[in-house]
Amino acid sequence: MVIPIHSCDAIVITCIDFRFQKYIRDWTDKNLKDKTFDLIGFAGSTKDLDTIMRQLDVSVRLHKIKEAHLIHHEACGAYGAESTPEKHAEDLRKARERINSTYPLLEVGLYYLHLDGLFEKVD
Ligand SMILES: [Zn+2]
Repeated sequence: MVIPIHSCDAIVITCIDFRFQKYIRDWTDKNLKDKTFDLIGFAGSTKDLDTIMRQLDVSVRLHKIKEAHLIHHEACGAYGAESTPEKHAEDLRKARERINSTYPLLEVGLYYLHLDGLFEKVD
């Protein structure tokens, strides 16, 4: 059987937390409007980076994605007392570094999502 080639534009990596899914849907509706994307939901988003990298590898290999959007959020249960904006920014940057070193052509966006739905861009 021949599987037809199917590619997509992006991947979105988020936490599983139900409180944020509507915000994330609204964000992708707006920011990835005419694009297609794979979606990874994992507790703590990129916290378990080895696991995330394995999923990302599949997405790159099968779907030839060009961009990755990494979303962490406020009051993340997977981080517990460690869930500070600074810690999330640090882990997001660490994930971007690892992704960039493996896939230099992949464009990576980092976001810290607040409880009220505000997406804060992390540089
Ligand atoms: Zn979370």
